[in-house]
Amino acid sequence: MSKSVSVAALGTPRIGPRRELKTALESFWAGKSDEKSLLDTAAGLRAANWARQKAQGITVIPSNDFSFYDQVLDTSVMVGAIPAIYGWKGGPVPLGTYFAMARGSQGAAGPHTSCGHAHHDHDHHHGVPAQEMTKWFDTNYHYMVPEFEAGQRFELASLKPVDEYREAKALGYETRPVLLGPVTFLKLGKAKDPNFAPLSLLGELLPVYVDVLRRLSANGAEWVQIDEPCLVLDLDEPTREALRRAYATIAHALPQLKLMLATYFGALCDNLDTAVALPVAGLHLDLVRAPEQLDAVLAKAPRGLVLSLGVVDGRNVWKTDLEKVLAKIEPVAARRGTDHVQIAPSCSMLHSPIDLELEANLDAEVKGWLAFAVQKMDELATLGRALAGGRESVKDKLAASTAAAAARRASPKVNDKAVAARMAQVTEAFARRKSGFADRAKLQRARFNLPAFPTTTIGSFPQTPEVRKARAAHDKGRLGHAEYEQFLREETARTVRWQEEIGLDVLVHGEFERNDMVQYFGEQLAGFAFTRHGWVQSYGSRCVRPPILYGDVSRPNPMTVAWWRYAQSLTKKPMKAMLTGPVTILNWSFVRDDIPRSQASRQIALAIRDEVLDLEKAGAAMIQIDEAALREGLSLRRGDWKRYLDWAVESFRICASGVADATQIHTHMCYSEFNQIIDAIAAMDADVISIETSRSKMELLEAFRSYQYPNEIGPGVYDIHSPRVPDVSEMTELLRLARQRLKDEQLWVNPDCGLKTRKWEEVRPALINMVEAARDLRAAA
Ligand code: GLN
Ligand code: ZN
Repeated sequence: MSKSVSVAALGTPRIGPRRELKTALESFWAGKSDEKSLLDTAAGLRAANWARQKAQGITVIPSNDFSFYDQVLDTSVMVGAIPAIYGWKGGPVPLGTYFAMARGSQGAAGPHTSCGHAHHDHDHHHGVPAQEMTKWFDTNYHYMVPEFEAGQRFELASLKPVDEYREAKALGYETRPVLLGPVTFLKLGKAKDPNFAPLSLLGELLPVYVDVLRRLSANGAEWVQIDEPCLVLDLDEPTREALRRAYATIAHALPQLKLMLATYFGALCDNLDTAVALPVAGLHLDLVRAPEQLDAVLAKAPRGLVLSLGVVDGRNVWKTDLEKVLAKIEPVAARRGTDHVQIAPSCSMLHSPIDLELEANLDAEVKGWLAFAVQKMDELATLGRALAGGRESVKDKLAASTAAAAARRASPKVNDKAVAARMAQVTEAFARRKSGFADRAKLQRARFNLPAFPTTTIGSFPQTPEVRKARAAHDKGRLGHAEYEQFLREETARTVRWQEEIGLDVLVHGEFERNDMVQYFGEQLAGFAFTRHGWVQSYGSRCVRPPILYGDVSRPNPMTVAWWRYAQSLTKKPMKAMLTGPVTILNWSFVRDDIPRSQASRQIALAIRDEVLDLEKAGAAMIQIDEAALREGLSLRRGDWKRYLDWAVESFRICASGVADATQIHTHMCYSEFNQIIDAIAAMDADVISIETSRSKMELLEAFRSYQYPNEIGPGVYDIHSPRVPDVSEMTELLRLARQRLKDEQLWVNPDCGLKTRKWEEVRPALINMVEAARDLRAAA
């Protein structure tokens, strides 16, 4: 009799191969379809998902990995952590309450994204605001931040995990329900009172978890997957104690229920002893992100512990080298027994696009290297069969995998000799400007002769429905190239003229030609591919389609020079050129796994450096290199920060350092929280940095003040995430606060971020007020 090996999926994309869930949600929100049709669509997606997994040979199929919006929100609702403003009075939670928590209700515009990371509109004049949203660990998925308060009560308010388990069972699938673990859930949450520690609520929370687990067990669930990704973070002793207490409580209440404790996105490291001592039946490890932890875990894991080996990348797009993985896991299976290992993706495949087969237009060679969720399931099943029945039993699949890996390694599409040669030439001098900031500033001041508190914007102007329509028509071939160019020129010219009219000091062209700040560059660089259906959920119904960085990067042609030149030809004022920086391009793409990120970043940096130099040659005197996503790349563990920041900063400097001293390099970052990385920001040594500060009442400038940051700064005075138009006095007040922290010579006046998501009706009065605020300041100073 042949042994069998369990193959788990951990979690699957829920949006649907054609984004069916997005369509259904948005139609429901718009009042165009009813609740029943939304529920039906969702049930259909779940059923299809389970059927596919079963057919593909997944033996441990998850349930409750579906969500209408977000699994963390689902957990808040499950335990009744529903703030009073949402008006819930107990009992089953209506879908309306759930979506109010996710999106706010009436009056508030829906959430949108403008910075690549997500924000909500802060239009809280009526209705209720949505819960806060933030990034799920170091992914681009955003979850709704649970809100807790002292004296918080919990109760089982949603039976979703039980319902979905039963739904699967009724369809003939035995599933392993997934829950977000209680400790990670509390740690992800926030209390209004900063002195209140959500972890102190564990004792209140656990009975609800025990209740739901008991119901799952009573309905027949033998195993439950419980996700505690907090185990890969730097934890303090109280958190470790909370984990011990949580799992002891659950084990005591439900001794027969088997828990697969899932960790992912990193290594257990110093939490390993804690993890292996918990009274759980299984432990899932991310062996893609942290392959090095396997030996340590093997040395410490108790004999009976089932190890779930996360060997297929759940959040990248590359085919797995199956032979290579087998060589690693066969000894584990031999040593621990095939019934004590499971094959799994590194993390939930929520973070992976769904089905590569939908990509009809992708370059065939590149396509041959890729695997999306559906293909990954096949890989998982193959690995399971190889462990159970020997490599012979899947030899064709293994041969194909080995061949694909070899082809990818050898492909000239991946390896560009010219790029390698150039990389070899990079010296320290590439990352060093000719003179220090003080000397550059002198030259630049003489050159530009700007007034005090110069005004500018971050780059984009409203991407109106007309702009989007024209782009879509052009993409579909319905609008000719010349007509489209003409349309963009007019749009640009109008915007330049308007900026002159209202008296902005440094102008921008408006970025109308750009679909997206990363895609626009990716499409013009060698080494990037784009999918048609490779959507990944970002938050709620919002999905992104990250570019795939597959090969050595170079820049065959200038990417932005023509548009800059055209825009500058329309005005005598300085026209700031606009580029996206290498770290941001990298952090918002699927990145190759065959070279270090630092190296890929440096390649992109060299390409952007070429663009910077071409812009300078064309006459650009101010060049902005946006690094909106620089902070996002920070590792989950504090100890790894420096290494990342070192190469990230170096990449930026490589872009910025080829120019003359009198050329002014700007950068922009649209997140807050500079405290912990202020050294890195200073090391970037941009002549001018614009940052998001308006909502923090300039408190974010504290980091710059205490550092005595020497270069120029434009702290945002206009919250572009809101449709509200700030009046002059509000901005004057913000500038007053900025002047308390920085020298007048350092200060620029600008909005928090680009204006692409706003309407002209909002932008016009807001910028007119902004210019006036700067003028008032000059008059008074
Ligand atoms: N230049 C970009 C814009 O204005 C910057 C966007 C961003 O920081 N996310 O849209
Ligand atoms: Zn921004």
